[in-house]
Amino acid sequence: MFMAVTENPALKQLAVKKAPQSNSFCCEVCGQNGSPNIGMISAERAANICQCSRLKIYRWIDEGDLHYVELPDGAVLVCGKTLARKIEELSMNTDKLNSH
Ligand SMILES: [Zn+2]
Repeated sequence: MFMAVTENPALKQLAVKKAPQSNSFCCEVCGQNGSPNIGMISAERAANICQCSRLKIYRWIDEGDLHYVELPDGAVLVCGKTLARKIEELSMNTDKLNSH
């Protein structure tokens, strides 16, 4: 059911950036929900893609909107699939953001 999401260039970035280098983490929550091999990206990169601050990424994690994993060294990775969903929401709310 995730077919109509390729218009947003940020989403294409997500698809391409799957499994970077050696640390190819996959989202366990999505795996349990029948979508294995969903790539995870660092919170920093997620903020970059969304063009927002990392704090916002952490808030989404707090609110339970993003699947995430915290690494032993303190780095936080977020799930590409749930992030893509948030980007969709953002692009729908662009008018509000721009009127700031
Ligand atoms: Zn996930």
